[in-house]
Amino acid sequence: MKIAVLGTGYVGLVTAVGLAEFGHSVVGADKVADKIGRIRRGEIPFYEPGLDALLGTALRKGSLSFSDDLPATIRAANVIFVCVGTPQGDDGSADMAQIEEVSRLIAENLNGYKVIVEKSTVPVMTSVWIKRTISLYKKSEAEFDVASNPEFLREGSAVGDFLQPDRIIIGVESERARELMLRIYHRHRDRILVTNIDTAELIKHASNSFLALKISYINLMANLCERTQADVELVAKGMGLDPRIGSRFLKAGIGFGGSCFPKDLKALIKIGEDLGVDMSLLKETDRINQARVRLLLDKLKAALWILRDKTIAVLGLAFKPETDDIREAPSIRIIQALLDEGARIRLYDPKAADNMRELFPEDGVRVVYAASPAAATEGANAALVCTEWPEFLDLDLTDVKGRMANPILIDGRNLYDPAAVQALGFEYFSIGRK
Ligand code: NAD
Repeated sequence: MKIAVLGTGYVGLVTAVGLAEFGHSVVGADKVADKIGRIRRGEIPFYEPGLDALLGTALRKGSLSFSDDLPATIRAANVIFVCVGTPQGDDGSADMAQIEEVSRLIAENLNGYKVIVEKSTVPVMTSVWIKRTISLYKKSEAEFDVASNPEFLREGSAVGDFLQPDRIIIGVESERARELMLRIYHRHRDRILVTNIDTAELIKHASNSFLALKISYINLMANLCERTQADVELVAKGMGLDPRIGSRFLKAGIGFGGSCFPKDLKALIKIGEDLGVDMSLLKETDRINQARVRLLLDKLKAALWILRDKTIAVLGLAFKPETDDIREAPSIRIIQALLDEGARIRLYDPKAADNMRELFPEDGVRVVYAASPAAATEGANAALVCTEWPEFLDLDLTDVKGRMANPILIDGRNLYDPAAVQALGFEYFSIGRK
């Protein structure tokens, strides 16, 4: 079996490396030649713990190679994993241009039976469009199948998630495709759920939207806690002890971001509405999430009144710890709002600072990137915690207090113990607790 992986971003590169680790012969291809050049040299174009070691092993063993020759890669493969981007379009729907482009390319290079596997997150019924596109543009009589195999990896623990998945969803409509897909994942036969293609596609959007719903739900409870004597951390703990609910994704804060939850939620809302389904529940999930950033800024204003010419330290820029990904990170909207208010910002993140520099370049006056979290708080009138990086827990807060102009700490991730921080002399504001 020869596997091609088209698109070598977060998902594609992990998929290529993971499938090689499963013992298959894999070629990863991307239309960005420079990216392929770097990966061939064993360089990972983003931060993902453990991926470089596995990539190095697979390259040395020869089970994995990379190419920027997409047509040749397609022709040589009998299974093609499509891992290109499906970013958010202007109207909230998933922008399927990259999928359509790859489908045409596959059609033009269809030289024998192939299974085209949707690995990217796509709206339900995308396979119908892929099949139509390939049929429209193919130049041979060769047969093909489309399969859906959504990816559930999480950035930051992507390697472990791919190699030891909770479940593998395979959506197929032919026995031939089913057999091939089961062979690819033979190692994890006990974790495979085979469905039809629409079901598999919907499982991915339904899963991400449910997790987003859980986060917005606890954030709604946090709003109630802020107006009462209830403590959202304990509310979440008490709820999570019920195994029907579970404790994960019940963390109140400044809301979810990243390249998946916000866009997948909006894409599901859009496809639901297009199909005539009332999607109000998920619209509220999105609305509650959007409001989180404003809530944090309101806390800041309640502490400092006017933000013009105030210095604000922003600790954590990535949308979550253990990644350098800033796509849809709440920090972006916070930084923009602070700059709009005329504040000066001092930013720190252990991995994501370079990515943020591209959005908000350092000017040495309004925007400064610090080399450490403590340095970011130098002269600050307040510090905002936007990402729960574990290293922030090791911060010497007495030292930080000495550096700050005003010891005001606004913790958007409930990282610290309120009593301990207040005992050090900070004015401390967190989410849904006193
Ligand atoms: P990404 O932007 O990191 O990677 C996409 C890659 O596709 C890029 O390298 C790009 O150059 C390449 N590409 C675009 N058009 C191409 C073409 N025509 N031919 C070849 N290569 C092309 O995106 P990602 O984060 O890897 O996400 C990919 C898909 O997987 C999305 O649908 C996403 O929703 C889904 N997904 C992402 C995650 C995640 O945590 N990032 C998790 C699960 C699912």
